[in-house]
Amino acid sequence: MRFSKLRLTGFKSFVDPTDLIIADGLTGVVGPNGCGKSNLLEALRWVMGENRPKAMRGGGMEDVIFAGTSSRAARNFAEVSLLMDNTERLAPSGFNDSDSLEIIRRITRDIGSAYKTNGKDVRARDVQMLFADASTGAHSPALVRQGQISELINAKPKARRRILEEAAGISGLYQRRHEAELK
Ligand code: ATP
Ligand code: MG
Repeated sequence: MRFSKLRLTGFKSFVDPTDLIIADGLTGVVGPNGCGKSNLLEALRWVMGENRPKAMRGGGMEDVIFAGTSSRAARNFAEVSLLMDNTERLAPSGFNDSDSLEIIRRITRDIGSAYKTNGKDVRARDVQMLFADASTGAHSPALVRQGQISELINAKPKARRRILEEAAGISGLYQRRHEAELK
């Protein structure tokens, strides 16, 4: 499946609804330091189910909500929508009858996160699994953070194996086995 649009509302520095259209081929985002380039990639990671505040460069999950500036008040929620093209019918079963797949994650202060896929309420796990199987998940090596290459080089063998497993698209299977063992 292909990402076609990312919409951010109240997410980090993107206080007003902002669309990033992801066309065919290479998309580049350029701009001065601090303009929000990394925030865009974090929004992509977050909507796919990232739950580690540190991976979002924050102390807590609510730190992704627009915190306000001298001229604009803070927001009470942040929302990211990821639109994917499914005209080639590559989405997992359950989504295969529609031309597109939209995933929405919203976090509200003191309430937490809620997810929807094509308008239907789902659990965080459903979204994480959707991307784990497609090997594009929030922890996927397809998303390379600033400083991540040096982390990879210095990783312990076990941690490096996890990265390879995610790249091979089998980490969803491990997660399911782990859950089955707990039952
Ligand atoms: P660089 O070129 O230095 O890597 P960048 O374009 O990647 O910069 P980001 O790191 O994406 O920039 O953006 C940082 C900006 O986002 C900072 O100005 C920071 O104040 C702002 N920011 C982060 N979290 C929030 C928040 N919760 N509310 C408001 N602004 C935020
Ligand atoms: Mg950056």
